[in-house]
Amino acid sequence: MAGEPQDDCLFCKIVSGTIPATIVRETGTTVAFRDINPQAPTHVLVIPKAHYQDAAALAAAAPELAADVLRETREVAQEEKLESYRTVFNTGAGAGQTVWHAHAHVLGGRGLHWPPG
Ligand code: 5GP
Ligand code: ZN
Repeated sequence: MAGEPQDDCLFCKIVSGTIPATIVRETGTTVAFRDINPQAPTHVLVIPKAHYQDAAALAAAAPELAADVLRETREVAQEEKLESYRTVFNTGAGAGQTVWHAHAHVLGGRGLHWPPG
């Protein structure tokens, strides 16, 4: 069922605590943790605790939860004291998505080129 934990999902395992992560923020519906392979001085992932395969599926099925994730990206940026930052939702393998549990990347702490590669 949409939103239910998936046994084979890495980020569901981070939510349940089965796999450790450096958690920087947690709310009733979201978790924010440091990316294991950071691409910028600050690289934090914000995820819904519920499982949706990507941000588009999350927004379609649970728009309030999608808003929770977006709100948390702002909280992370403020806590990390980022004046400028980028929020990225890779959607689909061709765009670089490798984990099939919706997540926002919060990237900052260095200059960020636009357009991205
Ligand atoms: P995607 O490529 O799907 O947009 O982003 C997945 C992100 O998850 C990647 O940036 C990757 O470095 C990160 N990641 C993959 N495995 C782990 C892990 O076990 N722990 C943490 N903290 N991040 C991970
Ligand atoms: Zn999951």
